[in-house]
Amino acid sequence: MKISYDPALPITDRHDDIAAAMRDHQVVVVAGETGSGKTTQLPKIAYELGRRAIAHTQPRRIAARSVAKRLADECEVDLGAEVGYAVRFDDQTSEATAIRLVTDGLLLAELQRDRQLSRYDTVIIDEAHERSLSIDFLLGYLKQLLPRRPDLKVVITSATIDVERFAEMFDAPIIEVSGRTYPVEIRYRPPAETGADDELDAIAQAVSELPNEGDILVFMSGEREIRDATDYLNGKKYPRTEILPLFGRLAAADQQKIFSNHPGRRIVLATNVAETSLTVPGIRYVIDPGFARISRFSQRLKVQRLPIEPISQASASQRAGRCGRVADGICIRLYSEEDHDSRPEFTDPEIQRTNLASVLLQMASLDLGDIKDFPFLDPPDSRAISDGINLLYELGALDAKKSGGRGLTKIGRRMSTLPTDPRLARMLLAADKLGCLGDVLVIVSAMSIQDPRERPLDRQQAADEMHRRFREPDSDFLSYLTLWKYIREMRDELSSSAFRRLCRDEFLHWLRIREWHDVHSQLRRTAKEMGLKPGTVGADPDRVHQALLSGLLSHVGLRDTDGREYLGARQAKFMIFPGSGLAKKPPRMVMVAELVETGRLWGRTAAKIQPEWVEEAGAHLVNHVYSEPHWSRRRGAVMAREKVLLFGIPLVADRLVQYGRI
Ligand code: ADP
Ligand code: MG
Repeated sequence: MKISYDPALPITDRHDDIAAAMRDHQVVVVAGETGSGKTTQLPKIAYELGRRAIAHTQPRRIAARSVAKRLADECEVDLGAEVGYAVRFDDQTSEATAIRLVTDGLLLAELQRDRQLSRYDTVIIDEAHERSLSIDFLLGYLKQLLPRRPDLKVVITSATIDVERFAEMFDAPIIEVSGRTYPVEIRYRPPAETGADDELDAIAQAVSELPNEGDILVFMSGEREIRDATDYLNGKKYPRTEILPLFGRLAAADQQKIFSNHPGRRIVLATNVAETSLTVPGIRYVIDPGFARISRFSQRLKVQRLPIEPISQASASQRAGRCGRVADGICIRLYSEEDHDSRPEFTDPEIQRTNLASVLLQMASLDLGDIKDFPFLDPPDSRAISDGINLLYELGALDAKKSGGRGLTKIGRRMSTLPTDPRLARMLLAADKLGCLGDVLVIVSAMSIQDPRERPLDRQQAADEMHRRFREPDSDFLSYLTLWKYIREMRDELSSSAFRRLCRDEFLHWLRIREWHDVHSQLRRTAKEMGLKPGTVGADPDRVHQALLSGLLSHVGLRDTDGREYLGARQAKFMIFPGSGLAKKPPRMVMVAELVETGRLWGRTAAKIQPEWVEEAGAHLVNHVYSEPHWSRRRGAVMAREKVLLFGIPLVADRLVQYGRI
């Protein structure tokens, strides 16, 4: 291994301080601007100190690969020899590997087999400011482990965002490595002023505003958006300009292109990966539409979603900083200054955006112990924890509530591997068992996004008229299937522009329909990887509803015989939402996908169900109450009257059953 340091990198000036701090302390925090050399240089300093089993974590696979490649080049070794990487499905390491780049998720998974992390003498947690669940789990776990592993060294790196938190947690010194940065001029170009038709048009306008020389970095919210923008900008035929996409699923060779020399100008279209984790060299200008895909738990829908959201001010300034590294830069924000100033200062940590049930599920599957004792940087509140435990018990993911959320069942373990909300995960597993996974995948994907049927305030009636075709009398869930089939047919039949027009004319939200398809194919892929059998659409509707019910047991309601109001779980009273196909003739018993509070409680997306289904799917939850035991000579048994209740809802009001045998 050749160890040398580039004098131009800011971290090189602090080399000796970092080495000394690592010798004297178990944990060291290194903070600095993106591009200052933390990621590529810290493992070399550790190596110089005699460390030979270094785990170096990255939030994303694309970064793990690219950093390993860069380090191997710098140290003049083959990738996979002294320097290697391991990500899911791809292990490029060997006996000789001293510096091992891994995703933080992979290191977490390794913990299950190696509780002491005994294969490592050093752990570098890179990009800790991202505060993903994986990073928070690792930090908490290390906090517990360090007293038992006095020889283990930990380095935590972070962009200059809220660094003191990490130092306090571990009582560690902070070393700042910020180098020189050049001034960046910020220009605000909201569509209201530029008259841009859409985001693509706004980006193109920004490109033409900038000089013809100098590379441009554009931040996009996802792979799909990047592909669209690549086509769009290629169509503009800018002279001497190469359009380069950069996202996680891109082939490694294409990713590497951003680091290679090139004649002419480049426009790099990147996801958030370019915000702090990968430094694209030579960027002079940044175009920032101001959005990112952020995983979020919807309190209203009670599901985990990946909506595109405005980014925080901290993210915006990181993005702008990407063009002030080599010379003065210009950052064009495609939104207004007022918009910017009204945004939150920081992105909140993932643990605060995630359904606690899902956090508990992951903690249990990683064997991280009782959530109440776990030293989280930001501990969740106890009310949310008990709600989460109750929900997991309801879903059959835990075998007992009292184990503090740790008694994971087989179903719970499988649920933890599905990248969706626990309720929806439970539905998918039940559907697989009932042979209707094809249908339930479509419905669950629809429930993970916003309703693609639009109801503009001024044209509600026209919209309802259009959407009536998709209605199914006993089930709003089935209407998703009807809509799905219609959309698929139209998409096959029409050109893409004709399809877009149809969507507009028929009050269907084209972008959400696309998202529906994206979520569907991702879930379908994961289901297959897990060994489930997706099959096709068209199973028996009763089975479909039974599968959905297994995730909605606390969303069951029983109607008064003479009213329209339903008695729900724990004495909640709700009505069926007026937009539902069931609202006119509400059936006796329903399940609803969501319960929404707007003045009163409404059940949205409803279906008629049978009490027997609830009794079966909720067998672990129902109460049996017996009365009037008596001897029946005819049956030769003691008989009694039985009442069956679920969360206080009478499923069976009065049934004669055998009470005991003599
Ligand atoms: P930090 O982690 O502090 O953001 P890095 O260590 O990632 O900084 O980057 C230090 C420098 O190395 C940057 O100038 C970056 O452009 C350069 N660099 C990193 N990876 C590569 C690569 N694969 N090819 C060329 N240059 C790279
Ligand atoms: Mg870095």
